[in-house]
Amino acid sequence: MEAKILDGKALALKILGDLKKEIASFKKKPTLALVLVGNNPSSKIYIKQKILACKKISLNYKFLHFENISQNDLEKKILELNQDENIDGIMVQLPLPDNLDTFQIQQLIDPQKDVDGFGPTNLAYVFLGKPKIIPATPKGILELLDYYNLNLEGKLATVVGRSNIVGKPLSLLLLQRNATVICTHSKTKDLARFTKLADFLFVAVGKPKFITQDMVKPGAVVVDVGINKTSEGKIVGDVDFENVKKVASFITPVPGGVGPLTVASLLSNTIYAYKLRNGLY
Ligand code: NAP
Repeated sequence: MEAKILDGKALALKILGDLKKEIASFKKKPTLALVLVGNNPSSKIYIKQKILACKKISLNYKFLHFENISQNDLEKKILELNQDENIDGIMVQLPLPDNLDTFQIQQLIDPQKDVDGFGPTNLAYVFLGKPKIIPATPKGILELLDYYNLNLEGKLATVVGRSNIVGKPLSLLLLQRNATVICTHSKTKDLARFTKLADFLFVAVGKPKFITQDMVKPGAVVVDVGINKTSEGKIVGDVDFENVKKVASFITPVPGGVGPLTVASLLSNTIYAYKLRNGLY
C-alpha cells in the first residue's frame, strides 16, 4: 500500500486561519521585521513567501533589504530593532553573505524577539527541554506529526543532517518527545544502516533523491525537509519521493510538506513573542 501524504500545506492554511482570528482580537497588531542582505535568489523567494503569509493574516511587517551592509552597520540595525517598541519579532534571512558573521548577528537579537529561535538563549531552552521560541522548521514538523496523531514515544527516530536550524534542534525536540534519536551527518559511516532502523526518518541534507527506497524501513514515517531546485527548475526534496512512498506509511511531499509549515511557524512564533512581551501569557 502506498504511503499516506502528510499534507503540510493544508495544516499551514489552518494554522494561518487561526492566527488571523487571534490577531483580529488584539488591540494593536503585532509587527514582524524581516531582514534580507544581498540578492540570493532563493532567499528572495523565501522572504516573498513570508511577506505573503503576513498579508494573508493581517500581520504587520517591516521589510529591510540591504544590498550591501557592513557587520557593524547590521549590528546597529539589529540593536535598533531590539529597542523599537513597535517591533515584536525579528528574523534575519539566512544565509548571510560571507563577509558577515551569522552567529554574532543572531546572538544580538533580543531573545524575546528572536522569532526564528536561532539565538543561543532560545536554543539553550530547547536543549534544557524547556522550549520557548522553537526554531520554525522543527516546530512545524512536530505540529504536522501531532496533527496526524503520530506518536514518537518509544520509537526510533533517525535525523539526517545536524544543522543548527534543523537537524540539531529537531533531534533535541524528538528526544523530549521520548523518541530514541540517532542524529547523522556527512561523516556518518554506513548511513543506510541508521536510516533503515528508523520508525521515523527526518531528512535535512540539501541533496535531491539522497534517500532512496532501499534506505527506508517498510512502514516508516518519512519527513523530507530538503528544498532543491533541479536543472529543469523543478522543486524537489531530499527523498526519492516516487519510490520511497511505495514503502513508507506516511510521507511529506515537496513542495507542500514541511515548507509551508516553516512559514506558518515563524508567524505563530511572532504572535507568541507579541503575547510574551505584552503579558498575555
Ligand atoms: P545545511 O546547513 O547545509 O546542513 C546539511 C546537513 O546535511 C549537514 O549537517 C551535513 O553534515 C549533512 N550532510 C551532508 N551530506 C551528507 C551525507 N552524505 N550524509 C549525511 N549527512 C550529510 O542544511 P540545512 O539548513 O539543515 O538544510 C537542509 C535542507 O533543508 C536544504 O535543502 C534546505 O534548503 C532545506 N530547508 C528547508 C526548510 C523548509 O522549510 N522546508 C527549512 C530549512 C532548510 P555535516 O554537518 O557533517 O556537514
